[in-house]
Amino acid sequence: MPFSDFIGNPETLQRLREMLARGHFPPAVILAGAEGSGKYTLALMLAQAMNCLERRVPKTQNDEPSLFGAPPFGEEGGDAPSEGTSKSGELADFCGRCPNCRRIALAADLEARCTEAVEARENLRETDRKETRIFVQTHPDVLVIPPDPPQMMIKVDQVRHVIQNIYFRPAEGREKVYIFTSSAFMKEAANSLLKVLEEPPEFATIFLLTTNPGELLPTIRSRAMTFTLGALDPAEIERHLSHLRPDWDSRQRALVARLSEGALGRALSWDLPSYIAARAQALVLLRSALGKADHSELFKATESFRAGAEGREKMDALLRTLYLLLEDLVFLRMGTEQLVRNSDIAGELKKMAEDVDFPWVERAAVGLGEVERGLRRNLLRSLSLDSFVAALEPFA
Ligand SMILES: [Zn+2]
Repeated sequence: MPFSDFIGNPETLQRLREMLARGHFPPAVILAGAEGSGKYTLALMLAQAMNCLERRVPKTQNDEPSLFGAPPFGEEGGDAPSEGTSKSGELADFCGRCPNCRRIALAADLEARCTEAVEARENLRETDRKETRIFVQTHPDVLVIPPDPPQMMIKVDQVRHVIQNIYFRPAEGREKVYIFTSSAFMKEAANSLLKVLEEPPEFATIFLLTTNPGELLPTIRSRAMTFTLGALDPAEIERHLSHLRPDWDSRQRALVARLSEGALGRALSWDLPSYIAARAQALVLLRSALGKADHSELFKATESFRAGAEGREKMDALLRTLYLLLEDLVFLRMGTEQLVRNSDIAGELKKMAEDVDFPWVERAAVGLGEVERGLRRNLLRSLSLDSFVAALEPFA
């Protein structure tokens, strides 16, 4: 069944499904976890389970389970009157095929749905545009509230819309579901949300997704139940990648599994070509810094980091990659090779690690910090990178 499609964190999943099956699901749930850990996927699955027409699960114990999925009038309902009749140990599930499940699933590609909503707003008249907030809604009873661009914060008008809507009974499902995909709330928005959480209607569930629960007001946290999606083991991610990303070979899968820090969603959407390109340049820089590459190669690499937004992104990718490589060098120096993330080039890194010591790595990390500060002061990127390398060169 569809909940079995959710990968990882089996205990958390089981607890949520049990609560749902027993009719003890809390009115507000914080789903915490890293980017790509499956928070949104899980929230949508729970919304499906709450509204599935095939699998009846009562929200509360005294909820009347015969409203939906009831046997036809006159039929003896003697055996298993409804699949949702909750016994202890029973797990809620959903079919994934009924109209409610299918419509809720249309919201699964959050990025695409948000882009559509933003484009629709762009096409409005200016006065309307200012008053329009971004929502994703593919089912009348399931509302997804993403951070509103350009500030990428949850705004008070978004929460007001929830308040105007939440006290009306569900239209086509059994449960109204509200999914806030970020915990970056504007102050007034957070205070408004708090009011809803103080008195939520019994037929509504609010999900708050966050990479950092500390970002939410303590008063919001205390009114919600928190579940954390933990990191998956790289070996487990690798195993799932072998059938989810068959286009990658085993070396690439091992690399991405290590880079994704335990978040399968991150692994699946990993931009491998961009990463490899950034890493090739990072390696040129490190080789030069160790006196193992000639300067023409270095200048060719650093020269490509020009001004502009695209250059900025490229530069950020380069810096992140450099930090990762330095970390790998530390792991190799410490004799913990199994922790190396860039496993596909472990041989080359091992050779490099022989030429560095901890003070060198430390100087390099400090140097990267200086490059980052230089970026904020708009120093020329290529010059910052050249001086980063020069400061690390032997006999510099
Ligand atoms: Zn269904």
